[in-house]
Amino acid sequence: MTRLSSRIRSVPPSPTFAIKAKAQALAARGRDIVDLSTGEPDFLPPAGVREAAVAAVMANENRYAPVAGIPALREAVAARYRELGLNVGADQVLVTHGGKQALYTLSQALLNPGDEAVVLTPAWVSYLPQIELAGGVPVCVPCAPEDGFQPDPDRVAAAMSEKTRFVLLNSPANPTGTVLDAGRLAAIDAAAAAVGAIVISDELYRAITFSEPATCHPTLADKSLDRTVIVDAVSKTWAMTGWRVGFMLGPRDLVTAAAKLQGHSTSGVCRINEAAALAAITGPQDFLEPVIEELRERRDLLVAGLKHIPGIHLDVVPNGAFYLFPRVDGLFGKTAPDGTTLRSGGDVAAALLAHGGVATVPGEGFGEPRCVRMSYATTKEAIEAALVGMSAAVAALS
Ligand code: PLP
Repeated sequence: MTRLSSRIRSVPPSPTFAIKAKAQALAARGRDIVDLSTGEPDFLPPAGVREAAVAAVMANENRYAPVAGIPALREAVAARYRELGLNVGADQVLVTHGGKQALYTLSQALLNPGDEAVVLTPAWVSYLPQIELAGGVPVCVPCAPEDGFQPDPDRVAAAMSEKTRFVLLNSPANPTGTVLDAGRLAAIDAAAAAVGAIVISDELYRAITFSEPATCHPTLADKSLDRTVIVDAVSKTWAMTGWRVGFMLGPRDLVTAAAKLQGHSTSGVCRINEAAALAAITGPQDFLEPVIEELRERRDLLVAGLKHIPGIHLDVVPNGAFYLFPRVDGLFGKTAPDGTTLRSGGDVAAALLAHGGVATVPGEGFGEPRCVRMSYATTKEAIEAALVGMSAAVAALS
């Protein structure tokens, strides 16, 4: 048996990839499975993206890229944020292998063993493992479904101390779809500034909202990014999850330190993918409005259908991203046809998959075992089939 480091043994595998693998295994055995577990858009990137990638291949862009990213892309990312009112230069941008690697690198660059990082829960599945892999201590501040998962700034402030190196914010959020209230964000920002903590604002879903736009966090108080880091990517907005291009924008010394780590770990992102990302960001953006309209219709379809399934309850309809995170604790105590008594989101997700053929993600991996995550980045037909499947699975409980 290989002797693995305690560091790697201490973290669980990604639960979102695990449920997907389980659903795919059932489908391979011939079961009809409807997949609501997927955290990626189902539409195509804009046409210019493909063309730019092909052009980069034909132009023999075969060599190592600069570690921090190709200059044109760094500048385009900075310009996108300058349009929102930030005072940010290309030298404050690091191109990373997706938003995930930007976040991983930030924990590595900011945390000494024992340092604390404040995380609002429910939280995206990799935040806590990434902090722990860097030797940090996550301090979780629960946000209740009944409050629409909005944070209580006083509780967030109370979780901070001189040990806090950063607070992690995500709006719109995965898994809840919540667009965080700007007033609460400002209060959290002030509390972080008071203890000298950095704010990391994960803005991967910022462009995907259904009513008012989500706040770009540093526009509230730190327009020069002196104590705020934005994490973004082409993954969700431009439907380019597999291209693996993300960014961080932040203080120059931190970006330089993060680039140093990237230089020793992954090197720069593939030039072809960077050319595609550049085309995505600088190309026409009119593709997005119909996408958002379609997502809104799918959200409304799923929300309306869930109202008819007893035991699955959505407290507040969320305004962004493409997820619902309803409570399923109304089903706890019931027994599935295979004899399992349901006691957690994981048990309910397993019953929905086994007896309804619907894949959802258990809330445990996000820090809220009363819920399951449903993605509506799928067709309306799939959503309708999922509602039928989930109704059947719930009706089969005793
Ligand atoms: N942050 C959040 C909130 C996410 O939902 C995801 C992906 O699901 C990521 C970061 C990672 O994104 P990427 O695919 O660009 O690495």
